[in-house]
Amino acid sequence: MAKYIFITGGVLSSLGKGLSSASIGALLEARGLRVTLQKFDPYLNVDPGTMSPFQHGEVFVTDDGAETDLDLGHYERFTHARMRKENNFTAGRIYNNVITKEREGEYLGGTVQVIPHITDEIKTCFRAVDHGEDIVLCEIGGTVGDIESLPFLEAIRQFRFDLGAENVLIIHVTLIPYIKTSEELKTKPTQHSVMKLREIGIQPDVLLCRTENPLDSDIKRKISLFCNVSPSAVITAIDVGNIYEVPLKFNEEGLDQIIVDRLDLKKAGEPDLASWREIVQKTRECTLETEIAIVGKYVDLKESYKSLSESLFHGGLANDVKVNLRYVDSEEIEEKGSAQLLSQIHGVLIPGGFGHRGIEGKIEAVRYARERLVPFFGICLGMQCAIVEYARNVCGLESANSAEFSGDTPHPVVALMPDQEGVVMGGTMRLGAYPGILRPGSLASQVYGSATRIEERHRHRYEVNNAYRENLEEGGLRFSGLSPDERLVEMIELPGHPFFLACQFHPEFKSAPYAPHPIFKSFISAAKKARGELFV
Ligand code: GLN
Repeated sequence: MAKYIFITGGVLSSLGKGLSSASIGALLEARGLRVTLQKFDPYLNVDPGTMSPFQHGEVFVTDDGAETDLDLGHYERFTHARMRKENNFTAGRIYNNVITKEREGEYLGGTVQVIPHITDEIKTCFRAVDHGEDIVLCEIGGTVGDIESLPFLEAIRQFRFDLGAENVLIIHVTLIPYIKTSEELKTKPTQHSVMKLREIGIQPDVLLCRTENPLDSDIKRKISLFCNVSPSAVITAIDVGNIYEVPLKFNEEGLDQIIVDRLDLKKAGEPDLASWREIVQKTRECTLETEIAIVGKYVDLKESYKSLSESLFHGGLANDVKVNLRYVDSEEIEEKGSAQLLSQIHGVLIPGGFGHRGIEGKIEAVRYARERLVPFFGICLGMQCAIVEYARNVCGLESANSAEFSGDTPHPVVALMPDQEGVVMGGTMRLGAYPGILRPGSLASQVYGSATRIEERHRHRYEVNNAYRENLEEGGLRFSGLSPDERLVEMIELPGHPFFLACQFHPEFKSAPYAPHPIFKSFISAAKKARGELFV
């Protein structure tokens, strides 16, 4: 049976609990342990699939088609654990399960209550991810003190009691603010949030203290005294510029050793952090820079493109080049034109998205990249924009569009498949991993190292309309990736262009710093090359 580490958060949100959990996972893997991670979100939406990226950031998609919180992306990028549906639960899903059971008569007429029914359901979820790993890391979203968090904290209290304290460790992530006027680090908010935890019967074992300035031994002793945590377990979690430095910082603070000792993890070896050191070292050494434009509509909220920006960073690592991201609002392109906003850019990326806002600006950005031979990479909606652009400006289908944006276009070059029409919204989404077959000799297959079969994650409703495939191909576009039955277009490219590649899937969900995704790697390589060629 796995041992459990729970990660809670105090004082305020956005303290980087997700990154901390992922980094602890990485550290434990570096000691030869097998880990998995799980995230609980206390809100009542059943899953984040329908939540606005403006409010909630990116929706991360797993192989089995779960639409999950973006922290699961961090877990996959930092560790070798692969996430599935059971790795992310919201309070909504848990209540929904309990209410469904009640309706089906499973509780035999008994009174259904938060304790024990909701808490039992939560405990069942804790166990659902234990598939023989050494450690399960469970992150509890929200902040201690929120009403919504209470059932989760109560479930943790019970779970520790059930499993024994030697099998469960509690890490509380907190903030030590620095007050400039008095030049002091303040511990009171931490004291209060630990007090809140202890009120409900949870004594944290480790405090991860987010801080701008290192904590000295005096302040660690003070926190230790007030919070009943040993001074060595008061960990400085200092702000870092590069997130991949976090596992190294935690190791310097002795965090992995504390975990190994407290949970008596006999299998743990000495930490091997060479790959993390290499990543950090490489980042520091990059002197060349490339400018990549991300043309989208959620550009004000970088959290919406978390996996994307990380994948571009990984692509940079693979090419020894620093990738500067320039977020370009596609509506601004509509107003000001592409030349003004995309000049001095070495690569244009159009990411996934929903809804018609800013679409014309994206289509214009494709035209710019195609005509000016700037490396282009389209993802999902980005590929659909490339299809529309090509149909309109090269194949002469002037008012071509996606049926998503124009119900009455005479040329719906992107459309729903006939078997999707009329099905309820939401039910038609192609979600999760699907295979694709690459055309031999194509740029796509070259990018994937001559592979012919790939498997990538999807999240979309619309597809390239097969009725226009011949037309587009005659116009010079190449369909270089298709589903095994050849009914669905997976990848397109433009022969003769230095790098013009787009895919219907989301490769950004499968990139890691130690294994950059091949498309990102090739895109950045093309951008690096364009750097020397474009503006001479
Ligand atoms: N809106 C498009 C569709 O549903 C693209 C979705 C996406 O980019 N993820 O097909």
